Amino acid sequence: VTASIIDGKALAETTLDRVRAAVSTLASPPLLVAVALGDDKASAAYVKRQAKIAQQCGVIYRLDGLPSHTSENELMAHLESLNRDASVTGVILQTPLPKGFDAGRCRDVLRVEKDVEGVTTMAAGRLFTQRPLAIPCTAHAALVCLKAGVGTDLRGLDVAIVGRSEIVGKPLAALLIHESATVTVCHRGTKDLAGTLRRVDAIVAAAGSPGLVTGAMIKPGAVVVDVGTNAVSTPEGTKLVGDVRFDEAKEVAKAITPVPGGVGQVTVALLMMNVVELARAKR
Ligand code: NAP
Repeated sequence: VTASIIDGKALAETTLDRVRAAVSTLASPPLLVAVALGDDKASAAYVKRQAKIAQQCGVIYRLDGLPSHTSENELMAHLESLNRDASVTGVILQTPLPKGFDAGRCRDVLRVEKDVEGVTTMAAGRLFTQRPLAIPCTAHAALVCLKAGVGTDLRGLDVAIVGRSEIVGKPLAALLIHESATVTVCHRGTKDLAGTLRRVDAIVAAAGSPGLVTGAMIKPGAVVVDVGTNAVSTPEGTKLVGDVRFDEAKEVAKAITPVPGGVGQVTVALLMMNVVELARAKR
């Protein structure tokens, strides 16, 4: 039997329906502001996608594009002004920031009430203490996909995460602990990645390493969620691939997310849900 495919697009649509319904109950449409410095191509693509989805669910989207010669102090002053502006519901600070910028310090200027991506130190603390405002969207999307693949609650499930970044691995570990899963977090220091993965009921791959997880590393019947989004060049041009070898994995897993069409779809939808959460919290 081959694995069932976890349909990120369908999960995103369900989420966006809920966002639209929630937005319509607000006194005024929420305003999401993206702050971007200079002209990074990857960041421009994200902005375009965010703007499109925002429009689809009634969220007003504004791009504050600051010139590439903006200093760290000027950026922080701009974030302060958004903190004070009551018309602004949530703020995204697009990364990467220019070389030499202390990204953590810049992010932490944002008040947690405006931190729509849940990336400030305060948001991390609130997540760990189970009082989140906005949950980091990629980690949250991985959780939603995992739940869809497992089909029941996650209590007692053995889950391994590959990756310990602030935006995916770490917040996902917290979310899974709160779901009463038993969590193993793997990274480059992990002694036996293959053996560790082979033992668990579910794998979330968030390493940014194309094809890292092979079919042989997956326990038959396990659920596989692939967060990896890696651009690789092939003779046919650039292609997006995950961290999991999909063709091998689908022969062993019970359910798996495709790349593209999996976690990435759900991520943007949950970003919009976070805007709604912040708007509600403000009232
Ligand atoms: P990151 O900051 O580079 O972190 C990668 C993590 O994976 C690190 O903890 C690293 O371990 C670990 N890792 C890398 N190679 C490994 C290996 N061979 N064995 C074991 N662990 C390994 O990446 P990120 O920002 O979390 O992103 C991860 C992936 O998700 C990327 O492909 C990114 O494009 C994708 N992503 C997708 C979305 C989405 O919406 N779908 C959003 C954000 C990111 P160490 O800590 O030991 O170095």
